[in-house]
Amino acid sequence: MEQVASAVLPARLHELERENKLHCQNVCVKTLPKDILGQCSSLKDITLSPKLVIFPQRMSDAVMLHELAHLRHLNHRKGFWTFLSSLLGEDADEEKFKSDIAYCEHRDMIDFLLR
Ligand SMILES: [Zn+2]
Repeated sequence: MEQVASAVLPARLHELERENKLHCQNVCVKTLPKDILGQCSSLKDITLSPKLVIFPQRMSDAVMLHELAHLRHLNHRKGFWTFLSSLLGEDADEEKFKSDIAYCEHRDMIDFLLR
């Protein structure tokens, strides 16, 4: 799964970068601590969890856009949510996206599938 993820996820992230005119320094796919699906460092490096490949695209896109939004706003303050909403084309539900633990309602299913 990691191999597929390493090919597919960065390709999709670059597509989203182009569509939204954002640019990150580096993308890497590697296992992150439990519940974390993506990270963005202050050096504009984005790390994506290989688990994202088994998500419906709409959801993995939302996680990637969340990380891309951190290229402009390295925090979760109001400006971040406004910017993310513009990327998603819908109101980013602040509760749902509050942490980078996006979509934890599917976590059990994912853990089950990866067992
Ligand atoms: Zn975040």
